[in-house]
Parts: sequence; structure tokens; C-alpha cells
Amino acid sequence: HAKENGRNDFYLFEESMEHQFMELRNLEAALRGAIEREELEVHYQPIINLKSGKVTCCEALLRWTHPELGPISPAKFIPIAESTGLITPISHWVLAQACEAAAQWPGDVSVAVNMSPALLKDIHLSHMILSALYTTGLPAERLELEVTESVLLEDNVQANSVIREFQKIGLKLSIDDFGTGYSSLAYLKRYRFDKIKIDTSFIADVTRSKEARAIINALVGLADELDMEIVAEGIETETQLGYVMGARCTAAQGFYIGRPAPGDAILRRLTAQAQGQTWLREDLSSP
Ligand code: C2E
Ligand code: MG
Ligand code: MG
Ligand code: MG
Repeated sequence: HAKENGRNDFYLFEESMEHQFMELRNLEAALRGAIEREELEVHYQPIINLKSGKVTCCEALLRWTHPELGPISPAKFIPIAESTGLITPISHWVLAQACEAAAQWPGDVSVAVNMSPALLKDIHLSHMILSALYTTGLPAERLELEVTESVLLEDNVQANSVIREFQKIGLKLSIDDFGTGYSSLAYLKRYRFDKIKIDTSFIADVTRSKEARAIINALVGLADELDMEIVAEGIETETQLGYVMGARCTAAQGFYIGRPAPGDAILRRLTAQAQGQTWLREDLSSP
């Protein structure tokens, strides 16, 4: 009897694997024409400078709305794009959109774009970036590239030279989700990053974990020594914002400060800020 059940379990398992496989194949096929069908959109999430209380950068975050399935999370479709090579045309599109949007923003606000590992092997990338900067008139210093450790993991000679080329052009470089990999510190020695983005998981634990607080404080000291900015990601509450301000993080990002929003909404908010409106209800710069 037990054996029979085991067999059924096996068939169920096989069926669900097949189901997952089909779902991935279908998503891949759907993603293939997504740009042309205008199903992709870039949203922007504000990053606030904790000394001035002003938004000085926005992160470009890709959104895909499938005509039947609705919104699909980047956590689901970015890996598909990466494994099929679709990430190259998609990333070129995101970069062009982001530069175009940022060129309209008042007050020298920068834009940050996430870079997939595969992209650093794309020989057309720096040419593409230069042409996006040229056509939009966005100064290179206002474009930031966010990379995660996985980009650097392979000790990739090519990634190394591409990163140095970016820095020659004048682009800013951030290390994203810092602290989640297992050799983060080694990368700080090898590359000159402009910003460290402390991973959300440390911020989420800040009220209940002494360890999380100690790590944040150590990273702030390290960033200060190395002349880097330090950004706290995933700020969802006033308490968390208060903590990272007290710990002297230089910038913060999260739903409490602002959710990712379409380009027109962000432009309106940035324009209001340029006209003197404070970003948060409470002005951070007042004592
Ligand atoms: P990421 O670069 O670490 O981006 C931050 C993610 O955290 C975003 O998720 C953002 O919506 C979310 N987030 C921001 N504030 C909060 C908060 O207070 N609480 C919580 N719970 N979440 C917050 P999203 O947009 O779903 O993107 C997920 C990941 O997908 C990104 O992580 C990035 O690695 C990747 N991604 C997004 N857009 C692109 C893109 O254009 N190109 C590439 N290569 N990757 C992208
Ligand atoms: Mg990022
Ligand atoms: Mg991140
Ligand atoms: Mg992340």
C-alpha cells in the first residue's frame, strides 16, 4: 500500500515539475515580445540623502505586466531574461529609458540602474551607455550602476576591465544587497565603489537584533573610512529611518520614503521638491 502511495507521489512530483517547466517556457516566449508589445515599464524609487533630507537619486526598477497574468515580479522574470539572453536587449532598453527620464529631472538628481552579471560580458554595453548619455544629454556622473556580488564572483577578468572602463567614463558604481554574499569585503578591496547598499535583511532586523545593529554600525565606519556613501535599503518604518539616521548612514531607500512609481509621478514629486517642498512630512534637516 505504502509503495503505491509513493508511486503516486512520484507522479505528482513529476507532473508539477513539468508544470513548472511549461510555465517557464511560456513566460520566456511571452517575454520575448514584451518590449515591442509595450508591456514593460520602468518605475523609479526615491533614495533620500539623510544630511539634506532631499531625494538625490532614484533607482530604476523594471515592471512587466503580462496581458493575461497581470504584473510579474522581477524576481521571477529577470532570471528568465538572464538565462535566455533576453537580458541584453531588455537592459539596453531600461538604460535608455532611465537616462531619458533622469535628463528631465530637476536639481541634478541621479538615476541608478541594476546590472546583470551577463551584461558585463556584453562588448556593446559601454558603447550603448555612451550613446544613451549622448542622446539624452545626461552627464555621466548622474548615472549609477548597481551590481551585486554575483557580478564579481567569477573573478571575471572581463567584468574587471568593464568596471574600470565605466569608472573612466565617470559613471558611479554601487554594490547592491551588501552583506548577503560570502566575500563582500574582498570586493571592496579590489574595486572602488562609490556606494554600499546595505541589504534589506539587516534593516528588517534592526529593532530586534543586536547583531544587525552592530553590522550596520561597522559598515557605516567602513564606508566612512573608504569615502563611500552608505545607503540603507528597505526602510519601511519611522523607527527604522530614525535608527539608520542615528547610525549615520548617508542615504536611505524604502517604502516609508517612497514606493517605486511611474516616471511621470516621480517627475512631479521631484519638481515639487525643486520648488521647495520637503520630501518627507517631517523635514529631516530641521533640528
Ligand atoms: P534590488 O536592486 O535590490 O531592488 C530593490 C527591491 O526592493 C525592489 O524590488 C524594490 O521594489 C524593493 N523595495 C524597496 N523598498 C522596499 C521596502 O521598504 N520593503 C520591501 N519589502 N521591499 C522594498 P523589485 O522591484 O521587485 O526588484 C527586485 C530585484 O529585481 C531588484 O533588487 C533587482 O535585483 C532586480 N531588478 C529590478 N529591475 C531590474 C532591471 O532593470 N535590471 C536588472 N538586471 N535587475 C532588475
Ligand atoms: Mg538595486
Ligand atoms: Mg538591493
Ligand atoms: Mg535585491
